[in-house]
Amino acid sequence: MFKILRNIKNIFVHIRSSLKFVFLIIIATVLIIGVISLVYRPMYSVTLNGEFIGYTTNKSKLQSRINEYLEQSNGTNNIAFIDIQNLPEYSLCLLKKENASNDDEIFEKVKNSGTAYYQYYAIMVDSKEKYYVSSKDEAEKIIDELKEKKSTNIDDIAYTQIHSTELKEFTDSDTIVDKLYKKPVVVASSGYSSYSGQKIISSEKPSSAVLGVGLIKPVSGTITSRFGTRASGNHKGLDIAAPTGTTVAAAAGGTVIFSGWDSYGLGYCVRISHGNGVVTVYGHCSKLYVTKGETVSQGEAIAAVGSTGNSTGSHLHLEIRVNGAAQNPQIYLYK
Ligand SMILES: [Zn+2]
Repeated sequence: MFKILRNIKNIFVHIRSSLKFVFLIIIATVLIIGVISLVYRPMYSVTLNGEFIGYTTNKSKLQSRINEYLEQSNGTNNIAFIDIQNLPEYSLCLLKKENASNDDEIFEKVKNSGTAYYQYYAIMVDSKEKYYVSSKDEAEKIIDELKEKKSTNIDDIAYTQIHSTELKEFTDSDTIVDKLYKKPVVVASSGYSSYSGQKIISSEKPSSAVLGVGLIKPVSGTITSRFGTRASGNHKGLDIAAPTGTTVAAAAGGTVIFSGWDSYGLGYCVRISHGNGVVTVYGHCSKLYVTKGETVSQGEAIAAVGSTGNSTGSHLHLEIRVNGAAQNPQIYLYK
């Protein structure tokens, strides 16, 4: 009986020392974990195409940022789609706290590994890309505005959709309209026009420079009325018959001092000052290609023959004025 009691006592002593040992182990473990967590923390090591690109503590935040970037193909930032070969891979590890999370760098590296395809619009002039805009609406608005303003170059302007890995700088639509707008020379029933052929239309040798200005024939044709007195009054110019639309060349280089409707009967009319007090006048035109203030060269297309104003048939009325007085053009030309 006594022996049994002693055995029980022995067992208790044994259990007590075992429990002490377990407690020691638990305390040691807690201490070790405490020390480790002071120095280390769990982080994700990120690799892209097998190459280490950084650490992150917040894998889901980083991945959703990347996903967001990949999904922004709905027109924002003009990105049509983004092509990325592989997504990054994550592996959990315990790292010293000094290893900072570098989500921004990882994001940049993933972004740079992909190719963004942009979609935008080019405003074309003569089939050449001239300006870029973000949307189709903007491109259409520009064309519509130029049409509305009757810009004379409207037939040469178009827009096209661009798909490119390169994003161009956009220009705002008002600036584009301003830069492209070409003012109609004359808004009239006969229509306005810009001369689209070769600019210098005559290579004729100028007549002797009697006026200090060498002149060339603005059109070739038959003389139908000469300078001087006639039944209807004094004719201050020379009439040269030519089909409507025939290009009228500047008789000499100079500055356009008038281009528009002449209310004294010459219809659509151009006047050019050549210096030395010499002015040439071109009347009854169907189209005017120049505007007041413009500098023209000898032989340059300035208008088209017509029959506007006080006229009965298609012809050019040519005047040569010296210090305001009309001279007989045949002294110098069409002799
Ligand atoms: Zn005349």
